Amino acid sequence: MSQILIIYTGGTIGMMSDPITKVLKPINFEQIMDNVPELEKLNCKIKVHSFEEIIDSSNMNPEIWSELAGLIEANYDEVDGFVILHGSDTMAYTASALSFMLENLAKPVIFTGSQLPISAIRTDAKENLMTAIEIAKSKKNDRARVPEVCIYFDYKLFRGNRSFKYNSSKFEAFRSPNYPILAESGVHLRFSVNDIRQPVDAPLIKHKNLVNEVAVLKLYPGINPKVVEAILSADVRGIVMETFGAGNTTTDQWFIDLLKGAIDSGKVILDISQCKVGTVELGRYETSKQLKDIGVANGYDMTFEAAVTKMMYLLGQLDDPKEVKRLLEVDLRGELTVS
Ligand code: ASP
Repeated sequence: MSQILIIYTGGTIGMMSDPITKVLKPINFEQIMDNVPELEKLNCKIKVHSFEEIIDSSNMNPEIWSELAGLIEANYDEVDGFVILHGSDTMAYTASALSFMLENLAKPVIFTGSQLPISAIRTDAKENLMTAIEIAKSKKNDRARVPEVCIYFDYKLFRGNRSFKYNSSKFEAFRSPNYPILAESGVHLRFSVNDIRQPVDAPLIKHKNLVNEVAVLKLYPGINPKVVEAILSADVRGIVMETFGAGNTTTDQWFIDLLKGAIDSGKVILDISQCKVGTVELGRYETSKQLKDIGVANGYDMTFEAAVTKMMYLLGQLDDPKEVKRLLEVDLRGELTVS
């Protein structure tokens, strides 16, 4: 019989409306179980690990990511797959971070949650939870069907580091426009076999050291040079720069000089696009040619969530900014497509 570890971190799935204040507050896992008697009927053994402090995912942080990675490593040989109950707000960040932290992953790590609490009559939580477990235990020829860190939400399975929260009020909370969905559930559970990554035959390596010395520079027409200067001179090692279209920025000399100064001082600047679909093509336009020349890293079609967590991961592994830049441009866990 398969064995699944459910890790409960919090989120709306396990919240209840306070009868007086009407504010949504976390409940414990036993109360969740009471709402899903169907769990008993699943043909698998379920172990549960509930975090001591149940959180709204807006309070998620790299220490908790390390704890999660540690739990997965500690239970890795014993169980067939993992289901992580997590608030949807920052789920794509946690899924992206874990994809980098868990190298050579060969078992499913499926994040899910819900838009309505599990106790609500119209809840989306039950379907999300039951199918996430189904996916986590699904095997073919004795091998996990989806040996990846994923998000399962509203009948779709996404690669974690390709997805982002797109809607705060519909059940369809996530999208991954730059990569196909990995499975879809309906009458049948259909896996897109060719889009699922296959693991290399090597032991799991857990990297727990993420460094949050990262700043974000989001461009807009009319951005004030003082703001750019303040961000680029912050005491951090990496900057994720959200640019226009295919990776373009203003060609104003003051701007290019500030970027070059930051790179020369040992900082790494990563270019990702404000567009949700498509890719960065450094050098395609005059407005990105200089970025390439001064050594800005090409983030291709990475999500913001993947870009920030990949930067934290690489800064935790490497001291040399040139090496960080090189690896930012390499597909490490299926997070980008080099074009
Ligand atoms: N605020 C909640 C959270 O991210 C929203 C959700 O679970 O969907 O924890």
